[in-house]
Amino acid sequence: MGTATLTIDLDALVANWTALDAASGRDVMTGAVVKANGYGLDAGRVASALAAAGARQFFVAAAEEGVAVRNAIGPGPAINVFSGHMPGDLAMIEQARLTPMLNSTEQLTRHFETLPGHPFGIQLDTGMNRLGMEADEWFAVAEIALSQRPRLVMSHLACADEPHHAENAAQLKEFHRLTDGISAPRSLAATGGILLGKAYHFNLTRPGIGLYGGLPFDAARPVVRLSIPVVQARTVLPEETVGYGCSWAADRESVIATVAAGYADGLIRAMSNRAVLWHGPEPCPLVGRVSMDLLTVDITGLPEIPEYLDILCPAQGVDTLAEAAGTIGYEVLTSLGGRYKRAYTGGPA
Ligand SMILES: *Cc1c(COP(=O)(O)O)cnc(C)c1O
Repeated sequence: MGTATLTIDLDALVANWTALDAASGRDVMTGAVVKANGYGLDAGRVASALAAAGARQFFVAAAEEGVAVRNAIGPGPAINVFSGHMPGDLAMIEQARLTPMLNSTEQLTRHFETLPGHPFGIQLDTGMNRLGMEADEWFAVAEIALSQRPRLVMSHLACADEPHHAENAAQLKEFHRLTDGISAPRSLAATGGILLGKAYHFNLTRPGIGLYGGLPFDAARPVVRLSIPVVQARTVLPEETVGYGCSWAADRESVIATVAAGYADGLIRAMSNRAVLWHGPEPCPLVGRVSMDLLTVDITGLPEIPEYLDILCPAQGVDTLAEAAGTIGYEVLTSLGGRYKRAYTGGPA
């Protein structure tokens, strides 16, 4: 087989959701963020597994993603859309029964005029300056918006992965100022916010990355394994070079394996000469530049030429690989390529 296999452990995904649900506390509902096609792992599969485990609130970035999730999970759970009610979304919101998180007076007006009575939520800005109404705008429309009974009033933390960052407490205080005394359910915490503790949990938490095995949830079970087939192996003599630009030279007689994945599969060029692949517990350095479809790997230390090398596995999670490339686990996951054979283990029957 000439393409890599991405194995997704749905039991580990569900275990991570259950652990974050427990960490969210007893009276707090735990949702699941499945935007960007379930952080690259297939939103339909991910949402179905989590719905079977009891998740009742899903979050996506755009209405188009919401339609795909609705088709996968059926009519029961709520599907909330972070980008709110955009021009052209009306039919999708209505037919897939999506709940837009309205971000501005403009969106509020659009929603109330075109879909009166249809469920909605409100997104407030508490300091990130990305999505949501700011204080003045909110106070001007709060009375009318609240009279229409929003399903959720939410905001998002900018620095929740840094527990001691002063912005966390500042945003918490602002969220209280904007929402104390309302009867609608409130939500502030994503994965990082859950780990900040009870004060941040309100009525509903919205973990994403932690479900998929990423930091800042350092107790997460790994969810993905990426095994790349070896196409061929060769001996390289001292001073011979490997790959485009001759960026790596052997300093001893070396065995180099060429494996079938590259930057077109989301293994970005910044990993060149930095990342490590694994054969079980044995590390094998990626040498030379990442090319479009291939990586070259120093397997001199192995007793024989393996059929596969892993680049995501128990020995190396998404954050370790991300660090080698100067990025974050979120980007490694959402870049995982379309050419991989995706195999799912565990999950609902
Ligand atoms: C992506 C996102 C989340 C999930 O964040 P994680 O850090 O992946 O847990 C929650 N809320 C909003 C508004 C988001 O954009």
